[in-house]
Amino acid sequence: MTDKDISKVKELLAHPRKIVIVPHKGPDGDAMGSTLALKILLETLDHDVELIAPNDYPDFLKWMPYQEEVLIYEQEKSRCDELISQAEIIFTLDFNHLSRAGEMTDSLEAATADFIMIDHHQQPDDYAVVTYSDVTMCSTCQMVYHFFENIGLTDHITPQVATCLYTGIMTDTGSFRYRSTTSRTHLVLADLIEKGADNTSIHENVYDTSSYNQLQLLGVALQNLQVVEELRTAYITLSQEELDRYNYRKGDTEGFVNYGLSLSGIIFAAIFIENKAENIVKISLRSKGTFSVNDFARKYFHGGGHINAAGGRSDLPLKETVEKFISILPEYRTSLAG
Ligand code: 5GP
Ligand code: MN
Repeated sequence: MTDKDISKVKELLAHPRKIVIVPHKGPDGDAMGSTLALKILLETLDHDVELIAPNDYPDFLKWMPYQEEVLIYEQEKSRCDELISQAEIIFTLDFNHLSRAGEMTDSLEAATADFIMIDHHQQPDDYAVVTYSDVTMCSTCQMVYHFFENIGLTDHITPQVATCLYTGIMTDTGSFRYRSTTSRTHLVLADLIEKGADNTSIHENVYDTSSYNQLQLLGVALQNLQVVEELRTAYITLSQEELDRYNYRKGDTEGFVNYGLSLSGIIFAAIFIENKAENIVKISLRSKGTFSVNDFARKYFHGGGHINAAGGRSDLPLKETVEKFISILPEYRTSLAG
């Protein structure tokens, strides 16, 4: 953050304010961890804080501190619209463009509040009075820690705040393995453990709470795995019928896309998940090395993200979406064929 941004934030937070905090649609561990941490800490400073998620978040995050206070826009539109219109400050975390707030976008665009963005995605939009954007960061949670450092609030990090931040860093780094995980990340993690994050419990709460149905669905996903060997690409499909068969719940497919990338020699992995309710196919993309799935998702699937992890969607049926994907691959032969 620049000195100017730091002074601006300090000025904005100098006395109790009405604050709304927003994660992106389809909130993940980093989105929920960063927004919850910020809410908990700002409340200790007597601000009036509401956390409004555009839609529901996965069950594997439903143990997180204060998560029961999260409002879901889809479920309480008029109340949320009112809170957004009355807010003096709106923090948007873990996304780079208001359209990533889904159905909340119009309401956010109409808001008169001062916006503060904290985010690590590429190509940030410029709607905020303070834009703290750093694409080299592994997670928005690590950025929220630095945000607290910059404005002199690390002493206010309670065990609950530490737990939320640890969770988001863990989930966004694939448990500290992606290249964006730096020595600085580990220093932050060490301090979070010092401040009360119980690392073993957090790992167990997130990763060891699968349902039987979820593992059966993983079995189907692995059966459906296809490999395009010469282009070092692997992809998985899951149809609505397959999801229904195993009583799919939000978050059940988290991490499935990584199995493609775990195959020896594969550097590009995708998963296509049919969503009949929204009439789309949701796509997650992952890569190793310099192949940018952010560019790929932006160019072909109305999406974006990071170089090695991105997402998007397709309005075509599942089969046609996969055919489109396969037909695009040869354009990237020089990067993919190796
Ligand atoms: P995931 O595949 O885990 O849903 O998302 C991977 C990364 O891509 C995350 O950083 C996420 O924010 C981003 N992402 C996922 N879906 C979309 C999308 O539809 N649009 C954009 N712009 N980014 C996405
Ligand atoms: Mn993130």
